[in-house]
Amino acid sequence: MGKTTGFKEYERKVETYAPVRERIKHFREFTQPLEKDELTKQSARCMDCGIPFCHSGCPLGNLIPDFNDAVYNGHWEKASALLHATNNFPEFTGRLCPAPCEEACVLGINADPVSIENIEKNIAETAFAKGWILPEPPSERSGKKIAVVGSGPAGLAAAQQLNRAGHLVTVFERDAKPGGLLRYGIPDFKLEKSIIERRLEILEKEGIKFRCNVHVGKDYPASRLKEAFDAVLLCGGATICRDLTIPGAELKGVVQAMDFLTQNNYKVSGDSHEGESIDARGKHVIVIGGGDTGSDCIGTSIRQGAASVTNFEILDKPPIGRPAGQPWPFWPLRLRTSSSHKEGADRHFSISTKSFVGDARGNLKKLLTVEVEWVKNPDGRLVLKELKGTEKEWDCELVLLALGFTGSESNLASALGIEMDSKTNIKASDQDYKTNIPGVYAAGDQRRGQSLIVWAISEGRQAAHHVDAYLMGTSHLPLKGSGDLPRA
Ligand SMILES: Cc1cc2nc3c(=O)[nH]c(=O)nc-3n(C[C@H](O)[C@H](O)[C@H](O)COP(=O)(O)OP(=O)(O)OC[C@H]3O[C@@H](n4cnc5c(N)ncnc54)[C@H](O)[C@@H]3O)c2cc1C
Ligand code: SF4
Repeated sequence: MGKTTGFKEYERKVETYAPVRERIKHFREFTQPLEKDELTKQSARCMDCGIPFCHSGCPLGNLIPDFNDAVYNGHWEKASALLHATNNFPEFTGRLCPAPCEEACVLGINADPVSIENIEKNIAETAFAKGWILPEPPSERSGKKIAVVGSGPAGLAAAQQLNRAGHLVTVFERDAKPGGLLRYGIPDFKLEKSIIERRLEILEKEGIKFRCNVHVGKDYPASRLKEAFDAVLLCGGATICRDLTIPGAELKGVVQAMDFLTQNNYKVSGDSHEGESIDARGKHVIVIGGGDTGSDCIGTSIRQGAASVTNFEILDKPPIGRPAGQPWPFWPLRLRTSSSHKEGADRHFSISTKSFVGDARGNLKKLLTVEVEWVKNPDGRLVLKELKGTEKEWDCELVLLALGFTGSESNLASALGIEMDSKTNIKASDQDYKTNIPGVYAAGDQRRGQSLIVWAISEGRQAAHHVDAYLMGTSHLPLKGSGDLPRA
């Protein structure tokens, strides 16, 4: 433990943001990092708990008190080794994770938790700046070939682990560049794409082969996967967007959030995109859906120059603090206000959209809503009740549907004879990530449903261990919480 009284002496601090009026003029990241001295103080707040609940809060089992201690003592290279022992890409999670570790931090019982995520990001950035993150190609090759389908965080983490175990890994990606939702979902103001490039360069130098613009099951026959590779890992994400099938849904101006965000990321990268341009400039924009995707649509619309941005959420407004039934150290469902929300969105809760209204040329002009409340059925289930007399019209020319994802695409899975679960994700065990077809594994959102980057990396690492064991009889690749820390 760095400093026994640190948590009493120092208050929690996290990085700040550039002022709204400046940051909305561009799509770059806008955080203002903490100084090194401040990070030392923040790491000194860690109590090195006998039972560090932060470990169990983190889906990767990150060695949080250990890297906090290393930072406090100025041993940044050691901190980086500790961090990379459990997390292939701390530069992604350090920017984007909702930090379940902080919700589980023991200090959080009666004070503000340790600023774990900011410390993590700074360890990763220091390591890149100092040149400590170098390619680690394997010393020997096993001769086994593995196909990873999908290059999101799950596919990338699995590929790096399997390559380090000596296998020849090919990552197939149907998009133009690798990264999955990191590249084509999440906007640059949350994650600049140079951060992905920097990591991909390391992966390529380690020997991983990327085959982009290849849609497996269309451009590359599914049957060839099993012939050409000794094992296959499916990491195709949960890409089916939920629809809103109400009158007027076909009007021009009612758009899926992912179409809007993906196209904008192409534009920001200077790449050409398919289809007609979707632009919020000068429009009254309504974003339906209050999650991460909705928040990203708000920040993007504001940067594109929307006349106004309004956000609807059908659920009730959650409390600001922990709800009574969700005590520490559990993840609480409380009101989250993102940097995008603070940029000027008008948020409404307990509101349901009934229909869209267009002009004679089929352009969206308005939408109609009603306020709702959630009431318990006699069987205990919550159901939606519309409140009479609360109907309202809203002017809008662009509606972005950010209603979540219903599951993953089934074409490739069914071509391979793989079973899906009731939520149309690939059925693969939590224990060993095996599908019903020998030699075919699944990980990330395609297995667990739309989730988080930290879970995708965790699943990729766990699945890599089991694929390696399948090919070699045993595996030295670390499992979560195994205590086997090869790089620390
Ligand atoms: C808009 C948005 C914002 C988000 N923000 C956050 C956030 O701030 N923090 C956070 O933790 N999580 C966030 N998430 C969730 C997070 O991005 C995902 O949980 C994570 O990316 C899942 O990783 P994955 O590797 O399983 O799949 P994905 O990232 O979805 O990658 C799957 C890849 O597989 C490719 N693919 C699919 N099928 C094939 C095929 N047949 N052939 C070739 N390639 C194929 C796809 O093109 C895609 O590139 C966000 C999600 C969205 C949509
Ligand atoms: S729970 Fe919080 S205080 Fe305890 S070891 Fe983890 S980060 Fe440190």
